[in-house]
Amino acid sequence: MKSHARVVVIGGGVVGCSVLYHLTKFGWTEVVLVERSELTSGSTWHAAGGMHTINGDPNVAKLQKYTVELYKEIQDYSGQDIGLHMTSGMMLASNKDRFDWMKSILAKGRYMGLDAHLLTPKEAHDLMPLLDPDQFVGAVFDPVEGHLDPYGTTHAYAKSAKRNGAEIYLHTKVEDLVQREDGSWRIITDKGEIVAEHVVNCGGLWAREIGRMVGLELPVLAMEHMYLITEDMPEVIEFNRTHGKELMHCVDFDGEIYLRQERNGMLMGTYEKACRPWSPLTTPWDFGHELLEEDIARITPELEVGFRHFPAFNRAGIRKIINGPFTFSPDGNPLVGPVRGMTNFWSACAVMAGFSQGGGVGLALANWMIDGDPGFDVFAMDVARYGDYATLAYTNAKVRENYSRRFSIRYPNEELPAGRPLQTTPIYDRLKAAGAVFGASYGLEQPLWFAPDGVEDRFSWRRSTDFETVGAEARAVREGVGLMETSGFAKYAVRGRGAGAWLDRLLACRLPETGRMTLAPMLKDDGKLIGDFTLAKLGEGDFLLIGSGIAEDYHMRWFETHLPRDGSVTLEALNLSLVGLAIAGPKARDVLAKLTHRDVSTEAFPFMAVRRMDLGMAPAIVGRVSYTGDLGYEIWMKPQYQRYLYDLILEAGAEFGIRLFGLRALNALRLEKSYGSWSREYRPLYGPVEAGLERFVAVGKAADFIGREAARAERETGGALRLRTFVVAAKDADVIGDEPIYLDGAVRGWVTSGGYAHGAGLSVAVGYVPKEIADVETGWSIELLGEMLPARLQAEPLFDPSGARMRG
Ligand SMILES: Cc1cc2nc3c(=O)[nH]c(=O)nc-3n(C[C@H](O)[C@H](O)[C@H](O)COP(=O)(O)OP(=O)(O)OC[C@H]3O[C@@H](n4cnc5c(N)ncnc54)[C@H](O)[C@@H]3O)c2cc1C
Repeated sequence: MKSHARVVVIGGGVVGCSVLYHLTKFGWTEVVLVERSELTSGSTWHAAGGMHTINGDPNVAKLQKYTVELYKEIQDYSGQDIGLHMTSGMMLASNKDRFDWMKSILAKGRYMGLDAHLLTPKEAHDLMPLLDPDQFVGAVFDPVEGHLDPYGTTHAYAKSAKRNGAEIYLHTKVEDLVQREDGSWRIITDKGEIVAEHVVNCGGLWAREIGRMVGLELPVLAMEHMYLITEDMPEVIEFNRTHGKELMHCVDFDGEIYLRQERNGMLMGTYEKACRPWSPLTTPWDFGHELLEEDIARITPELEVGFRHFPAFNRAGIRKIINGPFTFSPDGNPLVGPVRGMTNFWSACAVMAGFSQGGGVGLALANWMIDGDPGFDVFAMDVARYGDYATLAYTNAKVRENYSRRFSIRYPNEELPAGRPLQTTPIYDRLKAAGAVFGASYGLEQPLWFAPDGVEDRFSWRRSTDFETVGAEARAVREGVGLMETSGFAKYAVRGRGAGAWLDRLLACRLPETGRMTLAPMLKDDGKLIGDFTLAKLGEGDFLLIGSGIAEDYHMRWFETHLPRDGSVTLEALNLSLVGLAIAGPKARDVLAKLTHRDVSTEAFPFMAVRRMDLGMAPAIVGRVSYTGDLGYEIWMKPQYQRYLYDLILEAGAEFGIRLFGLRALNALRLEKSYGSWSREYRPLYGPVEAGLERFVAVGKAADFIGREAARAERETGGALRLRTFVVAAKDADVIGDEPIYLDGAVRGWVTSGGYAHGAGLSVAVGYVPKEIADVETGWSIELLGEMLPARLQAEPLFDPSGARMRG
């Protein structure tokens, strides 16, 4: 065994071997993998080996596509047979809502060139005669699906990596990890010690325990999972004989089952509602190549539906039942990337679909380690998408919910209940009493809308029970004044003698003067957006940075990596130690004026000004800015003042008809102003020219900010894309995001967000299209729920295009 290495990958499952392969493929040497037992001896060996491209998140789907396309490469390179069966597959719907959902998935895949299409029940039956067509309303056919041999695949990665120079140490258990002064790691195993620059946690079932070695509680939990394999079935043999091919994969969403051919019989698995975590507190180190006790009773309700939908199963004998554990994060996506606050400690765990995603995870992680960037938009898989709220118990609640809903529809307006309410602000009960319907984001309860008595959110693909009320909230802002809670934004205090210089290097904007705010894009070295903030200068060496709430850990990781080590800058994620309220609308100034003796006229307190001021008796920071695009103020206060200020504002606003509004109305308002938002319009995929943020990027400023050269280059070339707003001829449903945008019948772009702009009374979509066609005026359409809706390019914001309202 080597005593020194550049990288030690812990874990020889499909994920660890893929990471190892990708690191060597991209030229890294001195890369080793350490495996406690044999390769595959975690969850990998008993997997059903199914794989597919389709995923609700197009960025994840891209990495799945990459994974599936990689298999031939590793089989050829290693000479190891991976038992590849590209059978193709179908997803089945037995009701209209489900079929709507499938159409939305299909539409999302269009831009990626997904070659899938809809089937009638009869067509589905012709392709897969085991199903009863009367049980279904339709299906989606996907040619890129199949299964493989988990053992062969893992060994193909491993052999390919070895061929590139990697070493693999079997029967070597990592017992502890200690970081040395110089940042390198001591990997202490039962066979000796290795010192390495980088450590990668691919521990699968034991990833949590490996995390604990360095003081981390990773949000990952194993669940038991069962599938059955039948005896030979005459129907299968007959199909193979007459068609000369295998039966294809099926996912029957309403039966909550998946199935595929296994030898001359079938394999059927389910994500049962009565699910069960495995080893919820610690994973035993002596768990080996073993299976868990089968518990057919637990999956009987799902199997009954499956057997009804696929009647041939009623005549088949069951050869065996496999029950094995595998891991999930709270949202079911992997935990990949550098762990915040640690040097060179990398995560590649919670990969629940190792054979669909393992290649993509290996690729992204290897890119990240080598180039400092994953090379794709991997936020959906980023380990930094969870904050410290994702505790062991939270993870347990969310993973069980996610597992049991694996094949359930999640409607666009559906908020999932497990693990809630967890974090609340001081006005939570008051908002609730006022009818607030909450959503949880980054663990915090945030009001979405305020439902009248007796009205509830009805989950749907189409406009729902909230439509009229959200409309009234939005119009109340436009016509008078609205109040909303803004505590869900991330807030960072940046202080110290070096704060200005540091922010000038970190952010692409020109820094504001004291008492002013600015929009502040943050770029990566390649000039793509890694953040968009509002930066307020409260005094010399005293800045407040406000950004996306869900990206707090993600941004803190970036900030901390670039923070000077000389103590000249202090950085604090304020989280809920600073909470917020916002007032917006033409009467907002009148309300504010009643709360303070200070002059709040435009002359004294203009647009983008920021002041520390007392409101009533409470100290606050007030910024004249509003994401509604209207006249408005964001008010920040310590939590102990929030209830007082909430009451005070409502009281002062009563004579102006102040109305509470939630995030749904805010979305409607910002859409009609064509304002983008982080994780939708602004992502690490786009440059500032493409995203329409060019005017906030000061390429000429004195400070050499991160991404400046690339930003200059983008300015010269103009980038590839443009963000555009469209008015959509929608009927009873509005776009939400990821729908394809067509020009003259060909897919040319994708929607980043959409919704009904209640103030304007129009359905709106915002999205990216190639710059060459970005100003074409006619010929646009957007696909929604299987229908092509004509769309009109909207060159200027629907609301207040001159900005007179917000500046006035
Ligand atoms: C019944 C069942 C069916 C499945 N079907 C499918 C399917 O059809 N398609 C699909 O894509 N996925 C499927 N999966 C999921 C799939 O198995 C996982 O996604 C995959 O195995 C994850 O691989 P991994 O490398 O992350 O983890 P693991 O396979 O658990 O590998 C982790 C490895 O790390 C080693 N290790 C841990 N700690 C240490 C240490 N301290 N020192 C040294 N080594 C250590 C372990 O011994 C183990 O070999 C299924 C899972 C089950 C249980």
